[in-house]
Amino acid sequence: MELSEQTFAQKFDLYGCFQCGKCTGGCPVSLKSKLNIRRLMIEAILGRNLDRLGEREELWDCTTCKTCTIRCPRGLKPMDLVIGMRGMLVEEGHIPKTIIEAMENTYKHRNPWGKPKNKRTEWTKTLPEDVKVKNFSEGDRAEFLYFAGCTASSDPRIQEVAKALLFSFQQGEVDFGILGNEEQCCGNEIRRMGEAGLFEELVEGNVNRFESYQIERIVTMCPHGFNVLKNEYPQGRFDVLHTTQLLAKRLEEGKLSLKKEVKKVVTYHDPCFLGKQNSVFDEPRILLKAIPGLTFKEMDRSRERSLCCEGGGGRMWVEASSDTGQRLAEIRVNDAVELDAEILVTACPFCILTLEDAVKTSGHEDRLRVMDVTELLVEAIE
Ligand code: SF4
Ligand code: SF4
Repeated sequence: MELSEQTFAQKFDLYGCFQCGKCTGGCPVSLKSKLNIRRLMIEAILGRNLDRLGEREELWDCTTCKTCTIRCPRGLKPMDLVIGMRGMLVEEGHIPKTIIEAMENTYKHRNPWGKPKNKRTEWTKTLPEDVKVKNFSEGDRAEFLYFAGCTASSDPRIQEVAKALLFSFQQGEVDFGILGNEEQCCGNEIRRMGEAGLFEELVEGNVNRFESYQIERIVTMCPHGFNVLKNEYPQGRFDVLHTTQLLAKRLEEGKLSLKKEVKKVVTYHDPCFLGKQNSVFDEPRILLKAIPGLTFKEMDRSRERSLCCEGGGGRMWVEASSDTGQRLAEIRVNDAVELDAEILVTACPFCILTLEDAVKTSGHEDRLRVMDVTELLVEAIE
């Protein structure tokens, strides 16, 4: 190991750890994976087992949900230690094959899903004619950049959400534009996979584009993009909002009119990168509760206590794992079914994909749907 145990402890400021175990107690994967974040802290402090990091596939089980860091009474950052250890594995080439593919796709296409750059905006061609989309890269200017993100640009299911969103923007009189094929990966997942160099390249490329088009306000539907643009891009240069924040504001200003009844029983799953990590808990609920006819039920594990769906931290691309227990997304689906909810609503592309898959694998397709907040709004607008 190039990085000595002392360097680990110094670099990630681990010395305050008094082994209380609150981090592991809150870790959503600790009961079903070999990942034990408290033990990892002490091993890093004492320098034990660091020469065998490459064999520890449980490092890839972390979803970077940040619960451990939020719960630590000493203000330490155990999650950053995991990301730092992954960084070392990346430097040494100990990377799961599927993660290598995601990184290579990001180098080549600026998109971990591998969609070629020149096809990034293909999905906008199927928008209804009355939805007008400005494009900064074609000379248009707008108050907000809608940063679509890689998943909305690549996945047909999430494109449905993006279309619903643009319709809601139009109804809410939001002046927005996209970056077109010039948009590239935000880098949130790449950084959490441990690829710090590629992350910096992505940030530099995006910031240069934002500045060249005099973009000051950015809105994004993906909480992962929201998190990184808000907290890990140069601070104070851009005003970054999640779409639920912007739409809740439009609703408050009376610019978004929800008139049609949606007689459904719904519950809401807080995405970790929106809720726990950025305290956006109220806005999605404000929007849902404003829909006429809708019955909103809260799950027991909600807001700060919400259960992670396991879609973050590069987990969408990890196949090999020490994780053998029940998928958390399936537990989440069961939580919603127990409430007799008909729709499990969320506000994150990764949550939608993991929860929809869990609905299928847990056999609840005939009684539970997964939708984005915006998709339900559209039903109330139209
Ligand atoms: S919660 Fe903080 S102090 Fe307690 S074991 Fe974890 S890292 Fe150490
Ligand atoms: S970030 Fe979440 S999954 Fe990762 S170690 Fe911390 S609590 Fe566990």
